[in-house]
Amino acid sequence: MSLSTATTLKLTNLKGVGEKLVEKLNKIGVFQPLDLLFHLPYRYQDRTRIAPIGGLRFGQAVVVEAEVRAAQVVFGKRRSLVVRVQDGTGTLTLRFFHFSAAQKNQFVAGNRVRCYGEVRTGSTGYEMYHPEYKLLNTVAASPLENSLTPLYPTTEGLNQTRIRLLVDQVLPHVRQLPDYVPEVLLQKFQLPTLAQAVQELHHPSTDTRLDLFEQGQHPAQRRLALEELLAHNLSLKQLKQQAQLEPAVAMPLQGHHVEALKARLPFQLTGAQLRVFTELSADMCRRVPMMRLVQGDVGSGKTMVAVLAALQAVENGFQCALMVPTEILAEQHFNNIRQLVNPLGLGVAWLVGKHNKKIREQQLAEVADGRAAIVVGTHALFQESVHFHRLGLIIIDEQHRFGVHQRLALREKGQSSGQIPHQLIMTATPIPRTLTMSAYADLDCSIIDELPPGRKPVVTTTISDQRRADVIARVASACQSGRQVYWVCTLIEESEELQCQAAEDTAADLALALPQLRIGLVHGRMKAAQKAEVMERFKSGELHLLVATTVIEVGVDVPNASVMIIENPERLGLAQLHQLRGRVGRGDQESFCVLVYGASLSQQGKERLQVMKETNDGFKIAEKDLELRGPGEVLGTRQTGLMQFKVADLQRDAGMLDDVQWLAEQLLTYYPENVEPVIKRWIPDGEKYGKV
Ligand code: ADP
Ligand code: MG
Repeated sequence: MSLSTATTLKLTNLKGVGEKLVEKLNKIGVFQPLDLLFHLPYRYQDRTRIAPIGGLRFGQAVVVEAEVRAAQVVFGKRRSLVVRVQDGTGTLTLRFFHFSAAQKNQFVAGNRVRCYGEVRTGSTGYEMYHPEYKLLNTVAASPLENSLTPLYPTTEGLNQTRIRLLVDQVLPHVRQLPDYVPEVLLQKFQLPTLAQAVQELHHPSTDTRLDLFEQGQHPAQRRLALEELLAHNLSLKQLKQQAQLEPAVAMPLQGHHVEALKARLPFQLTGAQLRVFTELSADMCRRVPMMRLVQGDVGSGKTMVAVLAALQAVENGFQCALMVPTEILAEQHFNNIRQLVNPLGLGVAWLVGKHNKKIREQQLAEVADGRAAIVVGTHALFQESVHFHRLGLIIIDEQHRFGVHQRLALREKGQSSGQIPHQLIMTATPIPRTLTMSAYADLDCSIIDELPPGRKPVVTTTISDQRRADVIARVASACQSGRQVYWVCTLIEESEELQCQAAEDTAADLALALPQLRIGLVHGRMKAAQKAEVMERFKSGELHLLVATTVIEVGVDVPNASVMIIENPERLGLAQLHQLRGRVGRGDQESFCVLVYGASLSQQGKERLQVMKETNDGFKIAEKDLELRGPGEVLGTRQTGLMQFKVADLQRDAGMLDDVQWLAEQLLTYYPENVEPVIKRWIPDGEKYGKV
């Protein structure tokens, strides 16, 4: 068999493979012989040597060879067959909970047995439960393995031996596997070649350090992780290139609306806001669709920058759509933006699910005939039959849970007469650099790294829920002195229903404890109109205290609210806590956030809350969050599909990302012919990011 023809070679060309086996192999992602080489073991067993019983350690999986001393059935909590064996260095118990009479009779004192199993601590000292074993008196002692035994991910009806035999048929041809990372480039990293790495992973040499494998730090693993990250990076870059091939309209800054707005603002824009707007402005001047991510900490004034970009589009006769994740936010943005741009003679429309037919039709008409210069809405903006009037810019606010393909799909939906709208994405909280470099490699990135002057950091404290009475007293005195307070109930067991229930109960309890206060409640199960009404009453100052679920997490802006109580903060990620906390500290008074943790807070939980006490810097918090919870959690579920790697691990391999970036540039410049094949190797067509 030659691997150079292996791409066309079928699995059935392998010895012992029929249609039934092909089905099973397909289930584990193996469609052609070559795929077997990249179907990598998840763990190894060491069956290369016999371990002396005297030197065993708990948790080790080892081969032991010993003489049977005694075997008996004992009736403890569970009936079991107990076999004592000895090898001259110590004794060990083999224990079987299921056994046949024939099995029991095999273990005659004096017989020699070789077994493989995991060392545990049982009632007799070290024990192995249900070890694999062979009696050596009846069969000739077979030689030990000469390399570590790989364990492969598998599926029902496909055993390890079967997979190993198949891999062994293909592995001798591993050197024919094309290496898309040329040796001259690889030298920089002191990593093995692809063939060496693949060989080593399937058949590690006996002197290989298993601990390195377990930590994912083995050079062979690192070699493949590097290539896999490279493939993902190249794929995103390619996507970006393709996305830029489509034409957009150049919308140079005319200035009349932008300057008029600036002149009307009661404050000066920060240096960072101005710089980022200049970057956006330059992008929009080009005939290439802008694809830019704006990051900024909570309260850094992203919305203002977005409105300036919107006005630049409007100055050129285009419409701008602003998409937000919730109806509450849509309404809030609608009101804020209306106040900003109506005086410039510009109309704003909004589209959300809760509108009745009449309002909806009226809004749709304003969108369609262009009376609305800016359209605010939830994702319903693009799902339904909305006819934009020369849509030139799409802004996605607070949506860092959006995947690449969703971003692109939006663009396609927003295009008119072959022109692609510019796109601007604003994150709710900062994203760690490693994630920007991988998940957002298709976007250009701007950072608003400055808060408006005079912002006082939110003072954060933690307190056990056993001191709930103190917390309630504090709420009472805060409200007495004219402050408004949020009381946030967090997610319980991932159940929205329970969470809403908890919020209702809390609101009822607080109403009893604080009869002098006016208390409102918002949660996800309320009708949008109801929610909006309560928010309005809070905003207007009529309500003292707002009990809420995490629905208020993003974007809600009530400057007079300066105290936030968060119950069971340990249930949330740090970035989410930071986002929540950002709801206070928006006015000029000093603000407080009180984290009321549950009784069973772990040590790690304490450390996490400590981070919240120590810093108000969203960038630092994001890094810490990534470290503690991993990329899937930080980016949200929609992104996780995209972050599924075979070998690489974004967190563990974060240190490689600069190398990956460099390598990608080198490949694109000097070895462009390698780009497509390396992407293909790691990202099958069906999983390309372009897929919606
Ligand atoms: P975020 O970045 O969290 O979305 P917002 O855009 O909601 O922040 O801005 C938070 C608040 O700060 C708003 O009330 C906004 O009007 C105000 N703001 C924005 N820019 C400035 C500035 N340069 N100086 C003072 N206040 C500002
Ligand atoms: Mg915002």
